[in-house]
Amino acid sequence: MTTATAMRIPEPPTTPSAGRVYNFSAGPACMPESVLLQLREELMDMHGTGIGLLEQSHRASTYDRILAESFESVRACAGLGDDWEVLFLPGGSMQHFSLIAMNFVPKDGWVAFADTGLWSHKGEKETACVRATKKTFDGATCRFDHVPADSEIADCAGAAYFCYCSNNTVEGTQFARPPRVAAPLVCDATSDIFSRPYDLAAHELIFCSGQKNLGASGITMVLARKSWLERADRSLPPLLSYSNFAKTESRPNTPPTFGVRVIGLMAKWTHDFGGPAAFGPRNKAKAAHIYAAIDRSGGFYRPSMRGDCRSDMSISFQLPSDALVDRFVEESEREGLCGLRGHREWGGIRACVYNAFPAKGCELLAEFMDGFAKKNG
Ligand SMILES: *Cc1c(COP(=O)(O)O)cnc(C)c1O
Repeated sequence: MTTATAMRIPEPPTTPSAGRVYNFSAGPACMPESVLLQLREELMDMHGTGIGLLEQSHRASTYDRILAESFESVRACAGLGDDWEVLFLPGGSMQHFSLIAMNFVPKDGWVAFADTGLWSHKGEKETACVRATKKTFDGATCRFDHVPADSEIADCAGAAYFCYCSNNTVEGTQFARPPRVAAPLVCDATSDIFSRPYDLAAHELIFCSGQKNLGASGITMVLARKSWLERADRSLPPLLSYSNFAKTESRPNTPPTFGVRVIGLMAKWTHDFGGPAAFGPRNKAKAAHIYAAIDRSGGFYRPSMRGDCRSDMSISFQLPSDALVDRFVEESEREGLCGLRGHREWGGIRACVYNAFPAKGCELLAEFMDGFAKKNG
């Protein structure tokens, strides 16, 4: 018989410390203060070596340890087995749309795309520079108001893979689960990795820029099935080859050492606070405050997405006029609610509430929204 000895999972801080604001920025985005404080210390002296984090050689034993810790923390969060590889590559995830195609699509092959928003739209264009692509779902036809059900996706049979974004950071829609299609899955999970339980193992490859749930910009984390990596094109220059990054522990040349450390600390922080399983309900509750304010505004706040596709990471809505958007941004900033202006190509307001975003800020934003709608509606 087992006794219920489940350890209590600690809750992350719900407010920022004095002098800091609620930062709703889409990315680079807010980070846990404990991680920032640890980094501050490590910048001067890493593990008592007398050498700071940025000054450590990527061939030194201290970096061996940094790298091992980052791999381990990412693996703990991802919950993937030994048949998966973790890679850290320089550059943002936008670069990977073409790179993945170069590695995994024969010259006469093609990539199936779900165009569900700005990032997958841009991603398709990047991919099309190197290989043929086909939109198997075109979100423009529904003004990106939802992500497709499996039945809305055109036949993908014969595609080298099906590429999609799990969370549409600009439009505020999110896949509830990976689509089921007749091609291997590749996912840009930049804006919702480790934010909820999600079937990562349904994919062959997942890639994410650092600056959202993983910390610093300029680095991309890739999770890839080993058997898939083996199929990578071996004629590519080594610095463009995923299998070479796997073979060299993600340091074929000087790696982005700072970003690797930050991802490790972010993943450890996420894991310490219960991992994706604990952050899922937390993030849902955070987002629910803001959606409730939208829903009770009597049409003053206008979300463009369908109710069943609402994202828990990026909450996007329009106001009756551009002048009201300006006023909303100005007045909310005065209350310490910052970074709320929507993406420049989408307009309106957007609140990104990643794992590290303190919960209280969502309640405060909802209160602010109630007051603003009353005054201006
Ligand atoms: C933020 C974001 C990106 C940005 O990619 P970068 O190359 O790091 O600028 C890509 N995809 C998604 C889904 C994003 O949310």
